[in-house]
Amino acid sequence: MTTPQSPYLGRFAPTPSGHLHFGSLVTALASYLDARHQRGHWLVRMEDLDGPRNKAGAAEHILQTLKAHGLIWDGEVLIQSQQTERYQQQIQSWINQGLAYYCDCSRTDLSAYGGVYPGICRERGLPWARDHAVRLRVTDDPIAFTDRLQGKISQRLESEVGDFVIRRRDGVVAYQLAVVMDDIDQGVTQIVRGADLLDSTPRQLWLYQLLEARAPEYLHIPLLMARRGHKLSKRLDSAPIEAAQASVSLYSALVALQQQPPAHLQGGPISEIIAWAIEHWQPGDLPATREIVMDEPV
Ligand code: GLU
Repeated sequence: MTTPQSPYLGRFAPTPSGHLHFGSLVTALASYLDARHQRGHWLVRMEDLDGPRNKAGAAEHILQTLKAHGLIWDGEVLIQSQQTERYQQQIQSWINQGLAYYCDCSRTDLSAYGGVYPGICRERGLPWARDHAVRLRVTDDPIAFTDRLQGKISQRLESEVGDFVIRRRDGVVAYQLAVVMDDIDQGVTQIVRGADLLDSTPRQLWLYQLLEARAPEYLHIPLLMARRGHKLSKRLDSAPIEAAQASVSLYSALVALQQQPPAHLQGGPISEIIAWAIEHWQPGDLPATREIVMDEPV
């Protein structure tokens, strides 16, 4: 629960691998409304560590599109690629303490293990090499949390995931580590994001434990799927949304979030739609599922 000592601090953390599409507008809107409904702060962080996946102009497009939809963040946008020194220092300190280790397993080496790392390099004591990944040791104690929408989630990391990568073989710091270090650093208390990240959350809670930080509360919203069964995603080339259509997209995003905006707001001023949505935000109206299938193409 939020208290005066720990005010609500939420965030939206897009990856600039493509322009903002309808699915990410819905996620951004949910985290924004949840923060503003609770009179909290809302930050935006650009998760651009995976250089090869970054698309030119995407970060600017995302920020401009958020603004055009009335989703105005507090403070400066944190750019992860400017933070790499901090992540690398943490990785090095865990290697020194024996909590993390180098790994030279290739995808082919691991293909037989169904996505669970079996600890092949755990006791090998490999030295640093340019193309070695770094993995973090985990245990098999269950890691459980209660998602505000999805309910109780529990995972045993060792048997369900295995020691996981915190720096990839190509040198890129893994999302799991960067996201947690930044959420701690920025003082984030509430995370609202897509249910595709639900299975990552126990790994992130393990990182909170190792970093001796208090974990935030989570609300994972169902992913929107088009009728044909694909996630509405920039990765699947859904059309980017246009700032000129902001009022229409915002209204549709509220409908997708199962809020019931009054018909007279349709096509109305952004500020009125946002004001209504902040006041009436009810995340409990969403189904406690990982996906919602949309009837109409957006
Ligand atoms: N950057 C991640 C993504 O775009 C989201 C990270 C998060 O919300 O934890 O999928």
